Amino acid sequence: MNLDALFSMNCGMYVLCSGDAGRYNGLIINAVVQVTAFPNQVIASVNKESLTCTLVQKSGHFTLSVLDKEAPLQLIGLFGFRTGKNFDKMTQVQYFLGKNGMPVINEHTVAYLEAKVISQLDAGTHILLLGEITECDYLNKAEPMTYGYYRDVKGGKVPRTAATYHEESSKTMELERYRCSVCGYIYDSRFGDPDSGIASGTRFADLPETWTCPVCGATREKFQRL
Ligand code: FE
Repeated sequence: MNLDALFSMNCGMYVLCSGDAGRYNGLIINAVVQVTAFPNQVIASVNKESLTCTLVQKSGHFTLSVLDKEAPLQLIGLFGFRTGKNFDKMTQVQYFLGKNGMPVINEHTVAYLEAKVISQLDAGTHILLLGEITECDYLNKAEPMTYGYYRDVKGGKVPRTAATYHEESSKTMELERYRCSVCGYIYDSRFGDPDSGIASGTRFADLPETWTCPVCGATREKFQRL
């Protein structure tokens, strides 16, 4: 079985948010799909261990914010690699409350939708939420980010779709890649870390002392050369 084949399935990058008793939280998910139009319903897969899952199950409501292609790794890292159990993620981001009382991310958000939980399916590690859409709209009509773009381009791996651009850089520079042992992010010196102001071509050894993993915030010592 070649599990890489699963990468061929397109999916987006979403922040699913919920709340209960004034406590809000959100997390990045990519397994979201509209499953019916009459009524408009989506299915979203959320890890059972997450605080957000608990909040959805308590409140019966959630929102989905569709991230745009320019969303920085810091924003993705905030909702993707940090737990909200002992840290209030929502203090770090602009949001507003939707009509269902749940937060909608208002940074790098193409569109959002609000949903009411109709049913849940236990899928082992995850809960599949069937939600009826009660509200949705565009916030800004930018291009949505796909999971493939995040993985291959934002994560510094060689992108499938921009071969010429990166081929040119790799000819003139030594391939130098370091993987974050905490979250798996790969620093590739050919690309640098533009979201943190690090120019392409910056060697790992030349990164400023204050540089940390743009996704999870780990320090440089947590990186291993590939
Ligand atoms: Fe990391």
